[in-house]
Amino acid sequence: MTQDAYIAIGSNLGDRAAYLRQAVRSLDAAGGNNVTACSPVYETEALVLDDAPQPPYLNAVVRLSTMLSPTSLLMLCHEIELAAGRIRDGRRWAPRTLDLDILLLGSLSVSTPVLTIPHRELVNRRFVLKPLSDIAPDLLLPDPINKAVADALADCADSHDLRPYDNIFAANPSEPAPAPFPRNEATPFDTFDFNARHDIL
Ligand code: AMP
Repeated sequence: MTQDAYIAIGSNLGDRAAYLRQAVRSLDAAGGNNVTACSPVYETEALVLDDAPQPPYLNAVVRLSTMLSPTSLLMLCHEIELAAGRIRDGRRWAPRTLDLDILLLGSLSVSTPVLTIPHRELVNRRFVLKPLSDIAPDLLLPDPINKAVADALADCADSHDLRPYDNIFAANPSEPAPAPFPRNEATPFDTFDFNARHDIL
């Protein structure tokens, strides 16, 4: 059984548009996955902890039809980030070639030490809620949020500016579609029965 996942994608290093396009191709190319919608793209100033300036982000949200379990989807996101040269040095809010966050997975609520769905910061970030609202305004956000995406956006206190960016996901006949990042096919990916109860995700 497939479910719709909503994934936030962002980049503020290197060829940001190319990383986002390749991330979408890579999410789509993984077994059983199908990207069914891409939001408009926005440029936003980076959140910084220590006043050290950072390049601005490109942000978007994609809808992904998937059979992957929550943990497998997280592993896939990490694998794609790594393939994009993402360096995890433990610094919070460090600049990054590619960041993939699982916002939602069906109507599932998950809370484990490594994974929280709905994403913990979802309702606090306009750069996530706005593109999500562009493609799914009426979607009901599950526990513990329990409101529609458009209502969450209206209630969001974050006032950071979002600058509409080019439609980088539109097919360009003069350019070949980007290849997905190479996959580590050895990674075991579980599918997930969303109708069953799961103690181990
Ligand atoms: P980030 O720095 O945004 O890549 O996220 C750091 C960590 O957040 C990841 O290694 C995950 O274990 C954890 N995490 C918790 N919930 C989520 C989620 N919904 N999507 C992605 N990462 C998550």
